[in-house]
Amino acid sequence: MIFRMLSLWLLSLSLALAEAPITLVLHGGAGVGKSTLTAEREAECRQVLEEALRAGHAVLKAGGSSQEAVQTTVVILEDSPLFNAGRGAVLTAAGTVEMDASIMVGATGQAGAVAGVQGVRNPVRLAEKVMLKTPHVLMTGRGAEELAREEKLRFEEPEWFITPAQRARLERVKKQTGSVSSPSDLSLRMGTVGAVALDAAGNLAAATSTGGLVGKRAGRVGDSPLIGAGTYAENGICAVSCTGHGEFFIRNLVAYDVAARMKYAGTGLAEAAEEIVNDKLKKLDARGGLIAVDAKGNISTPFNSDGMFRAWMGPDGLAHVAIFNE
Ligand code: ASP
Repeated sequence: MIFRMLSLWLLSLSLALAEAPITLVLHGGAGVGKSTLTAEREAECRQVLEEALRAGHAVLKAGGSSQEAVQTTVVILEDSPLFNAGRGAVLTAAGTVEMDASIMVGATGQAGAVAGVQGVRNPVRLAEKVMLKTPHVLMTGRGAEELAREEKLRFEEPEWFITPAQRARLERVKKQTGSVSSPSDLSLRMGTVGAVALDAAGNLAAATSTGGLVGKRAGRVGDSPLIGAGTYAENGICAVSCTGHGEFFIRNLVAYDVAARMKYAGTGLAEAAEEIVNDKLKKLDARGGLIAVDAKGNISTPFNSDGMFRAWMGPDGLAHVAIFNE
């Protein structure tokens, strides 16, 4: 009897000491069309995705937290003009850049987010400041920018954010008659970046950053800064970051729905994520996708759009980068 109890105790001790299988998954948005992506552009995008993946994974490998890993990854994607976040963010109908971002930490349930911020080089860093330095979760516009100044975050001039490619994209969208809520031209309008991670201590985290939808009304806020809609993390369950037609992701609380199905219905990560993206959202004609990792390091990256920039790396350190169904 004593021997059995001792071996059970030893087993649980070794399980507790075992390191979680470090995993990092990222996305660079669902707004990518096969017909519009040139080979040259594809190669450039793949390179940045891999760079961001390796940087985030290196944080995990060195024993860093999932919070730090998702932050590191998203900052690299924000700094790249190739993706719709930070530099290279899409333009509003007024030709301005208004950015949304959020971060959530599964270990504590803490979260921070910003919406409609201008001039802040890395909105995801500001979202983290909201989480760590204020009693709030979501801050908008001028108040959020004031916090960025107090925290000495970097600001850039509008020209730094606005790329010729995004100017041209806005012009193309303006020529079309559809409103932002029309799904017909969404691949032209979408994009976003995000990351989810599981660290060696078993902690999950998620972060998302975006310029929103091309040609959105000034003041429009999407799902990306809304906890439970575009971003969610809960230890023991999963971490999720979404991309797609934000209004649908808000109404369907997509990120939290993945966690809720796992928690309350006992559904597996892949089944939960696939069902939401390729059944529930598809039936609503809601375009987009998500990336997710669970507490065991299983991952899921479903999308119902043409493609979704994505990359992932598990404990084996092998880099996987994908765009379409390949
Ligand atoms: N979800 C983002 C938004 O609606 C856009 C995107 O992911 O493409 O603001």
